[in-house]
Amino acid sequence: MRRSVSGRTCSEVVVGVVAKKTRGQKKKKRIGKGSRECKRCHTHHGLIRSYGINMCRRCFRETAEKMGFRKYN
Ligand SMILES: [Zn+2]
Repeated sequence: MRRSVSGRTCSEVVVGVVAKKTRGQKKKKRIGKGSRECKRCHTHHGLIRSYGINMCRRCFRETAEKMGFRKYN
């Protein structure tokens, strides 16, 4: 492997990612599929949670381009 991106060490990058994941839970514990839903159509099916998208796959398909995602193939 060559040097890491932008001269940062690996450990610095990992710390940055972990810090982003901190989330405050004020309400009572909500676990399972019912705790999260698509923020656009409020379904529980096919949710995409990565990168804080929190949308179902259908809504994501429709809004991805506006959000700045591009299709590669
Ligand atoms: Zn949806």
